[in-house]
Formats: sequence, structure tokens, C-alpha cells
Amino acid sequence: MVGIRDITLPGGRRVPALGQGTWHMGESGAAAQGEIRALQAGIDLGMTLIDTAEMYADGGAEEVVGRAVEGRRDSVFIVSKVLPSNASRRGTVAACEASLKRLGTDRIDLYLLHWRGRHPLSETVAAFEELRAAGKIGGWGVSNFDVDDMEELSSVAGGDHVAANQVLYNPARRGIEFDLLPWSDQRGIATMAYSPLDEGRLVRHPALARIAANHGASAAQVALAFLLSRPHVIVIPKSGSPERVAENRKAADLILTSNDMAALDAAFPPPRHKQPLEMI
Ligand code: NDP
Repeated sequence: MVGIRDITLPGGRRVPALGQGTWHMGESGAAAQGEIRALQAGIDLGMTLIDTAEMYADGGAEEVVGRAVEGRRDSVFIVSKVLPSNASRRGTVAACEASLKRLGTDRIDLYLLHWRGRHPLSETVAAFEELRAAGKIGGWGVSNFDVDDMEELSSVAGGDHVAANQVLYNPARRGIEFDLLPWSDQRGIATMAYSPLDEGRLVRHPALARIAANHGASAAQVALAFLLSRPHVIVIPKSGSPERVAENRKAADLILTSNDMAALDAAFPPPRHKQPLEMI
């Protein structure tokens, strides 16, 4: 097993290109122990970036993450998100404090605005900068921002400190390759690919299964390896099963050939013109 490649975020922090998602975790008390075990299995395998949000299970996912990282907080990079309805200057700070409590930690490594809402970006950014100066967050970013949103963000005071944009990206949703991905790459802003398995739909896709068969791999691994072949992309599959987490980890060892890439382009054609950013 080779190591998971690192990505350097603006500001210099290095994070693994393959991490773990947590949407739908923390929704049932009965499942929590299994979810914690799955996250811990991933951490053991080097998937030490964990993505969560105050929205997931109304804070329940953050509590699961907090329990999963107990005793090993410093070896994990935690990403969480503020809801747009909370993203005023004061509301962002209060939401962050509440997330820190649920996570049982004194800092969130990367804090994102979950999507754009009614509060002006200047307020949210001012709050992010305040939280960063206080050491409560290591850096900040956004989610579900298209190119025009990113350009508007750049014009706000401090907006150029954005470290990452988390967006829907997987072989079946390649719209960002036309403009947003190159825009971000050129500026060194990391792209975090959410729903990399298209919420599980890709694990049974015949075109991916055909490519996978040549490598003795799974369709899920091919979808993840496709995303991992992009230099500035962080991939965050979610699984509540240690076995599937281990399967996803092995995607980092799978090198797709130019023939595989051509087969992927045939099955999932890259965009030829601007597509509005899709979101879930
Ligand atoms: P994914 O594309 O990661 O798919 C998750 C689904 O696939 C689950 O049902 C999981 O089931 C299943 N799965 C995972 N691995 C395998 C495998 N190897 N074989 C078969 N099935 C598998 O979807 P998500 O929407 O969860 O996206 C990932 C993360 O991205 C989220 O958890 C969240 O952290 C983030 N996200 C962010 C959004 C945003 O707006 N910023 C929006 C959506 C997601 P099981 O658990 O049973 O293995």
C-alpha cells in the first residue's frame, strides 16, 4: 500500500487528498458506535481529513466525529461548515463555538460556509478572519460556490484568504472541469469533491465496473481514483462500514491508464460549455 498523496492548502497546511465524509452519520444513536469505528478505521489507514457540518443530524455528526477523534485529535484534520442562515458576523462566531463544543476540541482546521445565503459575504469573511486570529479555526473556505460567487468573494476584504471550495464532483458530474476547477487550480485554491460516489449511485455503474475489472478493483475505487488523479482535489467519500472505508482507501493505490481515462471520457463526456454548478 502506498501512502495517500498530500495536498498543500493555501497557507501551507498539508492534508491527505483522500479523506472521509460524515453526512447521515449521527442520525441514530444505535448506529453511532459503528460510525465511530468506520471513521477510526479510516484514520488508521491515513484518511485523516474528516468532513462534517453543523447541519448533519443537527450537530449529531459533529458529536460522532468528536468521539472518533478522542485521544488522537492532533493527527486529524477536521473540516466543518456553518449554515448560511447562521452566517452573519456574530452568528458565524456563535455557530463555530457550538461546533467546537460538539466536536470536543478547541479548533476546527478548516471552516466552510455551507452555501450562499442572505448574509453578505463580507460579514461571513470578517467572522472567519476573527475566528482565525483567535486560533479557533485554522483556515476557512466555502462550499457550493460557482465561478461568479468566487469572483465576488475575491472582491471582499480578506476574501483572498479562501483555502478551499467544496463542490459536487464525480465522474457523472463533471461540469466544474469547464471553468470552476481550472479557475481554482490557477489560484491554488483546493477543490473538495463531495458525493464522489454520487451518493452511492456510481458503485454499480457498468462503465466503471468494466474499467475496474481490468485492475481487480471495484467501481467505487475507479470513481475515487478518477478524482484523485486531479492535482488539487480532495476526495471525501462517506462510509459507515470499516470494510467499505478500507475499500475506498485502496483507491489511492489505483493508477488509471490513459486507456481507462479515455473509457471514462466516453462514458462520462467532459463538459464542452459552461454548466451551472450542480448542488445536492
Ligand atoms: P458519497 O458519494 O460519498 O456516497 C456515500 C454512499 O455510498 C453511502 O450510501 C455509502 O454507504 C456508500 N458507499 C461508500 N463507499 C462505498 C463502497 N466502497 N461501496 C459501496 N457503497 C459505498 O456521498 P455523500 O453525499 O455522503 O458525499 C460525501 C461527503 O461529502 C458527505 O458525507 C459530506 O461530508 C460531504 N457533502 C457535502 C455537501 C455540501 O454541500 N458541501 C453535500 C453532500 C455531501 P455506507 O455508508 O453504507 O458504506
